Amino acid sequence: MTATARLIRHDDVGVIEFDNPPVNALALGLRVGLSAALDAALADPSIVAIVLAGAGRMFCGGADLREFNTPAAAQPPATTDLRTRMERAPKPVVAAIHGSALGGGLEMALACHYRVAAAGTQLGLPEVRRGLLPGGGGTQRLPRLVGVATALEMIVGGEPVDAARARAIGLVDEVVDGDVRAAAVAFARGKAAAGGSHPVVSARTASIDEPEVFFKTSRERVAKEARGLEAPLECVACVEAATRLPFEEGIAFERARFRVLVEGTQSKALRHLFFAERAAARIPGIPEDLPTRPIRRVGVIGAGTMGGGIAMSLANAGLEVVQLETTREALDKGRTTMSRNWGASVEKGRLSKAEMDARLARVRGTLSYDELADVDLVVEAVFEDMAVKKQVFATLDAVCRPGAILASNTSRLDIDEIARATKRPQDVIGLHYFSPANVMRLLEVVRGAASAPDVIATSMAFGRATAKLPVLVGNCEGFVGNRMLSAYVREAGFLLEEGASPAQVDGALQRFGLAMGPFRMGDLAGLDIGWAGRKRTAATRPKHLRYSKVADRICELGRFGQKTGAGWYRYEAGSRTPVSDPLVEQIVRQCADEAGIVRRTVADQEIVERTMYALVNEGAKILAEGIALRASDVDLVYVNGYGFPAWRGGPMFHADTIGLREVADRVREFHAKHGEWWTPAPRLLELAAAERRFNQGE
Ligand code: NAD
Repeated sequence: MTATARLIRHDDVGVIEFDNPPVNALALGLRVGLSAALDAALADPSIVAIVLAGAGRMFCGGADLREFNTPAAAQPPATTDLRTRMERAPKPVVAAIHGSALGGGLEMALACHYRVAAAGTQLGLPEVRRGLLPGGGGTQRLPRLVGVATALEMIVGGEPVDAARARAIGLVDEVVDGDVRAAAVAFARGKAAAGGSHPVVSARTASIDEPEVFFKTSRERVAKEARGLEAPLECVACVEAATRLPFEEGIAFERARFRVLVEGTQSKALRHLFFAERAAARIPGIPEDLPTRPIRRVGVIGAGTMGGGIAMSLANAGLEVVQLETTREALDKGRTTMSRNWGASVEKGRLSKAEMDARLARVRGTLSYDELADVDLVVEAVFEDMAVKKQVFATLDAVCRPGAILASNTSRLDIDEIARATKRPQDVIGLHYFSPANVMRLLEVVRGAASAPDVIATSMAFGRATAKLPVLVGNCEGFVGNRMLSAYVREAGFLLEEGASPAQVDGALQRFGLAMGPFRMGDLAGLDIGWAGRKRTAATRPKHLRYSKVADRICELGRFGQKTGAGWYRYEAGSRTPVSDPLVEQIVRQCADEAGIVRRTVADQEIVERTMYALVNEGAKILAEGIALRASDVDLVYVNGYGFPAWRGGPMFHADTIGLREVADRVREFHAKHGEWWTPAPRLLELAAAERRFNQGE
């Protein structure tokens, strides 16, 4: 269906209806239709008032993101002209808002004389989340209507408000239960009958006491929270312009700042991730309407760090959870942790005590597998030990009903081997959550060789239904995220031996935008798990490949990170602040000497390139092997699971931005200098030679 807007007569009121499913995005066709409908309604003397409304489930979700950076975006009619014509209309223009009015949708409503909203409607300017600012007059009109401080909060935060709050702050004139279009028609007719002029938002002024102080402190706060993002600060600048400049000049200022952002890498990266999330739901070979298995009751095996977080996330989503442990103490400990975590949300006012109790009641602890006989899905989160996992899966196979899905939260182990412990490998899959599992959105859905299509489809749907971002990945050591992480951590370790310090590596990567550098992250997650893994695989490690012993030496001293008070750094009692430790420096020097490495000054840029291109080279191999379906899936995994800055779009998008030719050249250089670990991925070389990108179609 093509985008349009049409004029529908309700006696003497003309309703202009946006129609561009699913969100009535303001695409070219809709703008053309709106312009024509506006002309017709204004020219027709028998129409006394105009109502703007949306067909389908909402008023309008905003601009058409797919149109950005294409010629269609610049093709007339421009929304800015449409808004001016509505404001100047001699007949009252009323927005009838239901569902949501977001971004450009709300900006249209702000150019109407009046706004009537259905109860429960969401209104907001979320552009900042895509690295943009409201470029359709939103930064100039909203402060004039609801006040500078409230507008700034809405524009910089991007959070929508509901209709009740919108009424309270003066964003809408009326909130109605029931048929909002009929109410708006009656409202418009009344305003026409009353005569006189109609209020125009742009004619008002936006002011605040002590503007210098207000904007200075706002800027400081926003800069701190934005962590490298440009858009929030540009939003502040535009709202400030609304208080200083006449309306038309403010609009010109907003337009100019919008253009800079829309052409910039950050908003392209954030829009890439927006589309990546939609793409991740599509799985070649599995029809979108494939029937899924109903999931109501879920079993969780283990009540440790992950089992606890997983149970919380399921209970948060309203599911009944049966949690199995080996001892009553382990169950009680898990329950205490859940209570404490939910309790913290209650203290912060984010959760009611009653809701917390309801969630806690949804998680039932047990020591008996019999209680798992009728669950629809089980997530296993016991120790990372193949023998233990196999035993758990054999038992699950024996007790769970036919058709129940048996999932493992393993970080790195072979899903197929786990599946072979059962007589139903088609029902076995990996559901790899990230810590803390009740907070982190990412869910790697690990497809085993035998996983049935409807088990995959159900797992993806289950992930979405429990507020996660499921990404389908293939079965290999570490899947997508941890496999890439290994390459990254490896290079970080080598850089230490070559001359960098943990603080320098962490600092360089944090300035690049990572939430946390690799050594701080290691200390937080605990170094013992990786150590155990290295000891397990030591015998099969190819001896000709470079290996840094630093991490092992640190673990041999019982330094497992924050939980033991020391790891890559040391920690004062009760503190989480990393302090550089001369002992670590000494171990690094010793290992470098033993390996015959002459230490040198390592530049921050090399730190970033070595670690980032290690991710990219591994990502390219993962793509070629089909472990990830698409480059954008790799980006989603890394941004949502590993603290990679969203505004860089993920490692593969970052490489695309740099240019694959340059990335390939550097990888070849590193290969020549640092040896086999850096064997260039053929996929990277092919794409670079063809001047293509990992993320095509961008
Ligand atoms: P944990 O040690 O905190 O918890 C494991 C729990 O499993 C313990 O409470 C233990 O009592 C219980 N358990 C052990 N054997 C059991 C059995 N046979 N039956 C029932 N319960 C049993 O470990 P964790 O960090 O929660 O890790 C669990 C799994 O999740 C591992 O496979 C790990 O690799 C994976 N994982 C961990 C993280 C992380 O950051 N910690 C992230 C993703 C995945």
